Amino acid sequence: MKLWQDKIRRVTPYTPGEQPQKARMVKLNTNENPYPPSPLAAEAIRRFDTDRLRLYPDPAMTELVEALAAYHGVAADMVFAGVGSDDVIAMAFQTYFNSDKPILFPDVTYSFYSVWAELFGIPYARPKLDAEFRIDASTYFGENGGIIIPNPNAPTSIYEPLESIEEILRHNRDVVVIIDEAYIDFAGASALELVDTYDNLLVVRTFSKSRSMAGMRIGYAIGCAELIKALNDVKYSFNSYTLNRLSIAAGTASLKDEAYFAAQIEKIKATRAKTAARLKDMGFVFPEPAANFIFARHPQRRGEDLLAFLRERDIYVRHFKEERIREYLRITIGTEEEMEQLFCALAEYQ
Ligand code: PMP
Repeated sequence: MKLWQDKIRRVTPYTPGEQPQKARMVKLNTNENPYPPSPLAAEAIRRFDTDRLRLYPDPAMTELVEALAAYHGVAADMVFAGVGSDDVIAMAFQTYFNSDKPILFPDVTYSFYSVWAELFGIPYARPKLDAEFRIDASTYFGENGGIIIPNPNAPTSIYEPLESIEEILRHNRDVVVIIDEAYIDFAGASALELVDTYDNLLVVRTFSKSRSMAGMRIGYAIGCAELIKALNDVKYSFNSYTLNRLSIAAGTASLKDEAYFAAQIEKIKATRAKTAARLKDMGFVFPEPAANFIFARHPQRRGEDLLAFLRERDIYVRHFKEERIREYLRITIGTEEEMEQLFCALAEYQ
């Protein structure tokens, strides 16, 4: 082995959901929104002056940050934006998780958290979700170096009531607590209402799911000004120009279309309810879904077999190999037609 080979950093990367490039498929594997983004975002892209691409974008993303601040009714210095919430969370790990004590996140959760912790050399522990995949707040009361919890959780789709989140916050005033709200628009009350009370709370959001803009890569975080300042200092030490001009313009425009946004969410929730009822009729079992996906298993069928069977029919769902969840499939809510195709295929399964 050459010397340089001994010295490079080796990591086990996060495995993103498959992105097959087929024209005809039913893609229910990465929790994308089946409906197009707001027509106002499309209009902003059409009207975009490509000559402006000569110039670097605004490193502070002022237009988008101010629009987000107005949208959420907070001060602009409480908002941070990045290239999808993955970028925002990675920066947050580097900024806030700087202790010898382990950070905490659930044993079943978004698998990127452990990858970032490994990459940045942050020790971590994973309190177990209970038998129903619910969070037991008391498992987060011990000494720790920080906490990150998605609400609703992925891949379970379970929403924890704000009282439970607040209980965790009350017991952890000395560390930063991140609530990853990638799917909150399909669920219930947001932890945003707690940011004024808890200066150690950072709430992370994304345009990838409820705003149908996964391909644009826009994420953001809201927290007290001091938290946001620290996050920006790390960002500027890494890459000052994160969001590109087109993303800033399209993201800002999308925020002006509340009626469209609310209508798409209602459509997805209605399809979710119908999908849940049909899955139940077929004998699937699953926790009450609060996100734009359902985490289901069938007591008589293997998760891996169902995955392969659907795949052969160009229907993609997500499967995880971890022991505790290997019999489950995570099924994104698509259009009514896409769900119909899923059910036609499942009906054929012997
Ligand atoms: N958090 C959770 C819980 C997710 O499921 C995802 C989607 N993979 C993300 C964050 C990242 O989404 P994005 O980078 O597209 O904003």
